[in-house]
Amino acid sequence: MQSNSTHHDGTRSIYLETFGCQMNELDSELVQDQLVALGFEFMDNRDEADVVLFNTCSVREQAENKVLSRVGQLGIEKKKGRDVVVGMLGCLPEREGARILSKYPQVDFICGPSELDKLPTLLNNAIAGIALSRSDRAALQGNRSRRSATLSAAKDNLELLDLARAFNPDHRRTTSYSAYVRITRGCNKFCTYCVVPNTRGAEVHRPPDSIIEECRQLVATGVIEVTLLGQTVNHYRYTHGVALNADGKEVPQIGPGLTAFKKPIDVSQQVTTFANLLQRIHDEVPDIQRLRFLTSYPRDFSDEALVVMRDCPRICNYLHVPAQSGSNRILKLMNRGYTVEEYLEFIDRARTIIPDVEIAGDIIVGFPTETEDDFMETESLLRKVRFKNNFVFSYSPRPSTVAIERFEDDVPRTTKLRRLNHLLKVGGAISGELHREYEGEVVDVFVERISPKSRRTNGVELRWNNSTVQMTGRTSGDLICVFDVDSLEMANSLVGGFVSVLVTESAPLLLKGVIQDPVLAI
Ligand code: SAM
Ligand code: SF4
Repeated sequence: MQSNSTHHDGTRSIYLETFGCQMNELDSELVQDQLVALGFEFMDNRDEADVVLFNTCSVREQAENKVLSRVGQLGIEKKKGRDVVVGMLGCLPEREGARILSKYPQVDFICGPSELDKLPTLLNNAIAGIALSRSDRAALQGNRSRRSATLSAAKDNLELLDLARAFNPDHRRTTSYSAYVRITRGCNKFCTYCVVPNTRGAEVHRPPDSIIEECRQLVATGVIEVTLLGQTVNHYRYTHGVALNADGKEVPQIGPGLTAFKKPIDVSQQVTTFANLLQRIHDEVPDIQRLRFLTSYPRDFSDEALVVMRDCPRICNYLHVPAQSGSNRILKLMNRGYTVEEYLEFIDRARTIIPDVEIAGDIIVGFPTETEDDFMETESLLRKVRFKNNFVFSYSPRPSTVAIERFEDDVPRTTKLRRLNHLLKVGGAISGELHREYEGEVVDVFVERISPKSRRTNGVELRWNNSTVQMTGRTSGDLICVFDVDSLEMANSLVGGFVSVLVTESAPLLLKGVIQDPVLAI
């Protein structure tokens, strides 16, 4: 199949598909801005694009299989004569290494998540058809960042990539009113099941001034909701004056180890903690109407950070704080670094300080050696915490993790599936109850978009009928809330603003209500 999308002016079209987490979504956004600025055009049609890029995820095998089947299809098309450049970005090539290029000859280049600044060169070489060795078609970090941590962090070109987005005048075209802002990269926790420390490298913390500047610039392009991203955001800690570039400007630095959080901060050093960072963003960028963050780690979440959340009206009362298991034995095998009791202590503390905080979590079922008793402890944890929603994953053994080396994947697939479905059922019932408690209350909703167009159906899942338009948004606690308005004009005028909604009905993952007041002052 010959691509027919190259414009007469030589503009190349790119189809980019993103798999996995919010970090990947953010990376894709940055990649897109970077390539648009270089004259590429993005399109939604994979079959017609000149370039197909996959931003891959390696956290579970299923995510990898999806990408590899797409790559397989492109191999068939290329054999039949389609002229298309194929690039693989993100965690899968970082984990697999350059051998992926011999295994899948249809892939022209690969680029790990920490090397995305090298993407334009890789892409241009591939388009020009320059015959390069495999190593020259691969930009991977390997374990470089762990070998020469401080130096590579100081030279972190990715900092420029993150910042470049905010200064891109075309940015608004590609985004909505919400944006992700990275505060840390990588991870040092080494949970035994997890590939992230290998694929995203050592934990690097961005200077607070850069983060705040990025937020300011995003606000100038129309963004009003910011979600701060990091693998364990509450471990954010930036020590000033120790990582500077040649111009004396602060640059990203390697995050402190876990033990740093057991000791008081050295008073001789000037440090920005997670609590300080939240407070600064809230105060210094007041046009951010909603500030959220993901993902929290159940250890080392300070009272100060909870108090800042409570006292700053534009910081959302929402925590995503994965427990992973309700069994201390399994938590230990996972190397999570906390006990169930410590997890529950944190949840209690959070709810004492912020009574209306909503909590979401993640659980892995079927971790090696997990017994029915372990599993029942996890179910009991779910009932105690009452998550607003809980993501449940089946354990997936990942190459180059400690768990795959050390433990046999001995929980049968059918058992994993049964446990997963059971927890989804239990979790669904709990979030149903929790959502029901909002019936009769008025909630403040940030309006995200018009719901997908569909006919009115019975029950709570009201969507669309001939005369009304259904809108969807979120509460400060991250609960999805839908409501109807009378016209498309009204609908469009509400997107990106706040409304108060009287909740009249609910479902396990949804509130439904009646709009009270079109614009709400926060
Ligand atoms: N940094 C976050 C934390 O520690 O809570 C999680 C990041 S991870 C990319 C997202 C979720 O994927 C994890 O919380 C975990 O539940 C799940 N996950 C990670 N590795 C997994 C594996 N090997 N099998 C199944 N689920 C996995
Ligand atoms: Fe993976 Fe654990 Fe780091 Fe989260 S904290 S990214 S689960 S190693």
